[in-house]
Order: sequence, then C-alpha cells, then structure tokens
Amino acid sequence: MNNTADSKDRDEENISLYPDFIPVEEGHPTSAKFIVVETGDERGRGLKGKVAFKKGEHVAKLSGILVNHTTLDTIQIAPTLYFADSWFCRFLLHSCSPNLEIDVANLEVRALKDIPSGEYLTIDYATTDDKVTFQFACNCGASNCRAWITGHAEEINEAGRACLALVNS
Ligand SMILES: [Zn+2]
Repeated sequence: MNNTADSKDRDEENISLYPDFIPVEEGHPTSAKFIVVETGDERGRGLKGKVAFKKGEHVAKLSGILVNHTTLDTIQIAPTLYFADSWFCRFLLHSCSPNLEIDVANLEVRALKDIPSGEYLTIDYATTDDKVTFQFACNCGASNCRAWITGHAEEINEAGRACLALVNS
C-alpha cells in the first residue's frame, strides 16, 4: 500500500467546488457536502446539500472575485462592490422563505432552518442585492411568497406589475 500520497492528491469524494486559482481555505464548500443538480425547470441548475444542516450552523465559507457590476453570479457586498462566485453562490436558488442566509461581512453561509440532506439550498435574493440582474416571477411555494422578485431597493418593473395583477386577481 502506498502511503506517500502528498497534498496534491485529491480525495475524489472531497473536492473543493472552487477552482485551483482560489486559495484553499478551511470551510470552503466541497463535493463531500454539496452537489449541483439540474432542477429540470426554468430555474436551471441548483445546489443541494449531501448532508443535513442544523439551524444556525455554519454551512460554508465563501470565496470569489470582486467585481464592480452585478451578474447572475454576484452577491452585493457594498454599494458598488460585488462578489462573484460562479461555483457555489451561483447555484443557490431563490426562495421567499430561504433555508440559508449569506453573511456578506464574513463571506459565509449559515442555515436559517434545519435542512435535511438532499434539499435545495436557497437564499432570498432581495436580502443581499439592491437590484437583481433581472426581476422574475417566483413560484417557490412559501406561504409568504412575494410572487415577483426584485432587489430590495428597486421598483417593480412593468412585467412584474402585470404578473402581480394576475396573481392578485
Ligand atoms: Zn417566492
């Protein structure tokens, strides 16, 4: 048996979701705990936990690239500063009653609820961003679903007003 495996050898079951150019840090999301899956609907790909998380638990430490504009991959961390994470945060789906929250000051994710293994991991996009890249209709199924998702500092657009008029009729 070969016991000389050095640190360059990767455990196939526990690979960082972040690419090699991001310095490895304790707590970064790995394939042991998370899996990206195709939702099969208009939400595209989502992220599920392969393990359960307890309410309040630290779920992952985040990393990414700082940029000055919003994209589908970004989380806003200051008025004109965004954090782009195309490998983990990008796949967090929106829910109006999310099971995760992002602590932007500490770049980490915490569980807002007990989360069983295999459940989609979700955040509320409006909690971090003044404006979302594009506003969209929400069918998250939460009792408090807002039906139309915007950033927390922007007006509902025309499509949203039409959508909400239908929902409320
Ligand atoms: Zn919703």
